[in-house]
Amino acid sequence: MKKITASSADFGGCIMESEERASETKKMRPALIDSFGRRIEYVRLSVTDKCNLRCFYCLPKGFKDFEHKEQRLTFDEIERIVRAFGELGVSRIRITGGEPLIRKDLPLLAKRLSALRGIEDLSLSTNATLLASHTTALRQAGIARLNVSLDSLQPERFERITGGRLEPVLAGLMAAKHAGFRPIKINMVALRNVNDDEFEDMVEFCLVHGFVLRLIEIMPMGSTGGHASQHYLDLQIIKEKLARKFDLVPSAMPGGGPARYYQVGGTNLHIGLITPISQHFCETCNRVRLAVDGTLYLCLGQDHRYELRPLLRQGVSDAGLKEAIVAAIAHKPARHEFRGRPRQLVRFMSMTGG
Ligand code: SAM
Repeated sequence: MKKITASSADFGGCIMESEERASETKKMRPALIDSFGRRIEYVRLSVTDKCNLRCFYCLPKGFKDFEHKEQRLTFDEIERIVRAFGELGVSRIRITGGEPLIRKDLPLLAKRLSALRGIEDLSLSTNATLLASHTTALRQAGIARLNVSLDSLQPERFERITGGRLEPVLAGLMAAKHAGFRPIKINMVALRNVNDDEFEDMVEFCLVHGFVLRLIEIMPMGSTGGHASQHYLDLQIIKEKLARKFDLVPSAMPGGGPARYYQVGGTNLHIGLITPISQHFCETCNRVRLAVDGTLYLCLGQDHRYELRPLLRQGVSDAGLKEAIVAAIAHKPARHEFRGRPRQLVRFMSMTGG
């Protein structure tokens, strides 16, 4: 194995190279590139696989098979892994779960991660049930952007989908708005016969509050996967419906990821469509996911993985950890197969880190 340095290195089919940033400072930044030439610059970091909601398409009611405490990465271990990713060229981290705000002292972890060299963007995905009491600490910890899951604005329907109450979610959202998080993105999974009469209401809600709206196609994950075929909605069709009511102009958003954005004419509202099923975006995939037990998942829809926790607990060096990450990235598969093999995936979204 060649030693990994900040200069070009070939590593098990995965290339790690340096590139000169097009800036006057000519700062060198490493790049983590997989065997299909995709630059990996984004890590979804799951800090817990537990959640205080039970969205029917995500985590089944009564599910209890969560990671034990000793299997969970500690803050020190997470920081070590994120530091290694930062040194390898990853600049964006999204903290997720499960529900990340149920992990004790999460703002302390966020503060440690946002201080790491190379980490330029730290954001959080949350269901917002516990957000209201955390906004100040999260802002002070360096989190500026939020994604909030919200599938319905109707209290009874919200409860049917999630098993929880809408009121604290709305309170969390308003607290986040007043605390100055920008942007706040609302993630709404489009569900046939469940919330498919609510898209216009959600557009109006986001317009009023200055949120970004992202509609997401349901994916078959774990044993909840049966819901995916029952409730799947092709977002191209929803877009055409929305376009009859709103003037939708193609747009872009920084850090927009795989979403295709449209701006509602005459307003500041951006609507993103995330279409893993009808129009997958694997050829531009720039991310991997670190689960709370230290498993590095290389694709949301495939089982390719690399266990980092045993290495950490066996005392791997920093260089060895980076070598392991580079080797893992070489095995990132070309694409998911949600469509061709919808039942192959046995783990839930909350386990991988949504
Ligand atoms: N608890 C946090 C939250 O609610 O945002 C983060 C974790 S949650 C698993 C992340 C996102 O995954 C949520 O927006 C949720 O709706 C979405 N999700 C979960 N299962 C899904 C599925 N089968 N298809 C599409 N999206 C899913």
